[in-house]
Amino acid sequence: MANSPDPAGPFEFFAIADSGINAFALPGGFVGVYSGLLLTAQSESELASVLSHEIAHVTQRHLARMIAAQQRVGLASMAALAVAILAARSNSQVSAAAIAAAQAGAIQSQLNFTREHEREADRIGLQIMVKSGFDVHAMPVFFERLQKATRVYESGAPSYLRTHPLTFERIADIQSRIQDIPFRQVPDSLEFQLVRARLSAQEGNAREVVANFDRMIDARKFGTEAAARYGLVVALLRVGDKERARKEMALLQGLKVKSPMIDALGAQTLIAGGEVEKGLAFYRDALRANPNRKALVYGYVDALIAANRTADAVQFLDGRMDGRPADPQLYEFQARAYSALGKPFLQHRALAEVYALRGNLPAAIEQLQIAQKAGDGDFYQKSSVEARLKELMAVDAENRRKP
Ligand SMILES: [Zn+2]
Repeated sequence: MANSPDPAGPFEFFAIADSGINAFALPGGFVGVYSGLLLTAQSESELASVLSHEIAHVTQRHLARMIAAQQRVGLASMAALAVAILAARSNSQVSAAAIAAAQAGAIQSQLNFTREHEREADRIGLQIMVKSGFDVHAMPVFFERLQKATRVYESGAPSYLRTHPLTFERIADIQSRIQDIPFRQVPDSLEFQLVRARLSAQEGNAREVVANFDRMIDARKFGTEAAARYGLVVALLRVGDKERARKEMALLQGLKVKSPMIDALGAQTLIAGGEVEKGLAFYRDALRANPNRKALVYGYVDALIAANRTADAVQFLDGRMDGRPADPQLYEFQARAYSALGKPFLQHRALAEVYALRGNLPAAIEQLQIAQKAGDGDFYQKSSVEARLKELMAVDAENRRKP
């Protein structure tokens, strides 16, 4: 993004938990990546080649131009889709994510990029990759792999190549552009490897996944030992083998590889094994080093609420609510905590923000009205809800006037 023609442009990247092999860009700089595509990428440069291509579609305003030319897909439905995708991104419920993905596919299928758009996105995408220090030769390699993988999935599911038509000519064009650029060995970041390990640990039969990671580690056939061991612990927690998860976690920590993802898994492993206080303390230590890392923030609050430490959860969340953060997950935790504390006014006020951030204003307004009738809440809180209600109703009325 920083190396794109529009570094200041608003970009919002998100992942969709779906084994389909797909990625897409929407107007407004929304770039979605399916977990299936992440798993198909054999290197970070391969993933970067798709992301650079998508970024280029956004900076070159291909979608906006296409929509202007194509009346069937109105801007309104694109905006609705963006909201649905945003909701899915922050929603833990897979079904909502699946619906948004299906909607994305439906709209996407009407938005086939032209050859000219594809060529331009490849050209700009390659420039972004060079500036970012990735191996440009990963682009044709990955596109060819996508072509092979997508053939298997021709079942009507949205696929990357349906919207980004890949021709022999296009691959040849990419190859001729990069022929003078030398190959470069770009090691994958630890984060990329950990994310891939986590995704593969979550796919398919859990016991087979454990066996796969065991084999990989025994044969030392891995990119990074830490990532392989990390995947093994995720898989062990998935099958409920808490005892072995603990032992393997100790081996992983023995490698002395620093990562908030490994820290979060360490805390999770302790808590799963019944050592709740130790796990919470582990989270607190990790949060001191990485205070804004979502895996740690969400994991910690979730663990506090699960351990009936609700007042601590509320206090921790309060420290993060300055300036009304655009993170519905935080409000969802807040609503859960207030519900456990028997504070319906605050519970519904928090739920209203969950809905508002997910683009469902009528539901947000309803929650504020329920809060008003709840009977608790002090004078200051009640007037703040009244003000927020007026604000949301005005936005809602404005939205309804739009075509
Ligand atoms: Zn494309």
